[in-house]
Amino acid sequence: VKSEGRNHVAVYTDDLTAQARQRVLLETRLRSALKLDKLECYYQPQLDVLSGKIIGAEVLLRWHDAKYGFIAPSVFIPIAESCGLIHALGKWVLQRSCQQLRQWLDQGIPPFSLAVNVSAQQFNKDQLLDELKQVLAESAVPAELLELEVTESALMIDEAKVVATMHQIKAMGIRLAIDDFGTGYSSLSYLKRLPLDVLKIDRRFVEHIPQAIDDQQIASAIIALAHTMNFKVLAEGVETAEQLAFLREQGCNYYQGFYFSKPLPAQEFIALLLSQPN
Ligand code: C2E
Ligand code: CA
Ligand code: CA
Ligand code: CA
Repeated sequence: VKSEGRNHVAVYTDDLTAQARQRVLLETRLRSALKLDKLECYYQPQLDVLSGKIIGAEVLLRWHDAKYGFIAPSVFIPIAESCGLIHALGKWVLQRSCQQLRQWLDQGIPPFSLAVNVSAQQFNKDQLLDELKQVLAESAVPAELLELEVTESALMIDEAKVVATMHQIKAMGIRLAIDDFGTGYSSLSYLKRLPLDVLKIDRRFVEHIPQAIDDQQIASAIIALAHTMNFKVLAEGVETAEQLAFLREQGCNYYQGFYFSKPLPAQEFIALLLSQPN
């Protein structure tokens, strides 16, 4: 038993070492990818449920590593968060996507908004406000065209500070969305104190519509709740016509998902946008 136990420990330790080595390796490669401009912003259309028009896009980071191929954000974002690289990464996404929007506006493309993900750590750090000012000034993108997606978990770190930060961001004219709504535990009184524009219903509540009655009820409750507080609602992960029909019936304002389009490289996104009837 003893030797078996030791063996287990040995195996476990080996595994941990391998995992740690893998992490360090990815961290190193991510750092250099950022430095060498090898990351790319993809754009997923966000649409108005009633008119069917594209109202904007969510910016989603993509990393194609020469050796390992595509590495998912669900893998590299947590690594970036744990080693502090998330600040530089987040700033890069803001800069890159605002520069891109500037180019599109300069080409005469009608204005639309970009929603950029801001991680909890980034959101709770003072330098974010300065970075936002800097990025908007450099790109001359109107603040109303920029929306920040903050996860419900980011709201839990320091409530008083979150409220203050959100009001400062709002005062700059930037729009605010709560991402993955329904997965955290924000109280209604807290939500009411936040100057939000949009609640994004998490994909997991949309996924099993129409089969799952409880998910239908959760989705319609979130929509009603958001409207009571004068927020718009966006449903994410819409994959079927049935899901979209249900959301339309419930009065959901916006949606995104594979049903209309997956996230696309800049050129493909703009081609799709321009191919849409006015
Ligand atoms: P998220 O912010 O909730 O982004 C939505 C995710 O759902 C994206 O995954 C998107 O590709 C995927 N998605 C969109 N429509 C559908 C659909 O109809 N069905 C399914 N099954 N999935 C759909 P992605 O791009 O892999 O990103 C995963 C997460 O990584 C994001 O979740 C976000 O939390 C994080 N992330 C991505 N880019 C950034 C970034 O620039 N900064 C930060 N901080 N986080 C990012
Ligand atoms: Ca998001
Ligand atoms: Ca989300
Ligand atoms: Ca999510």
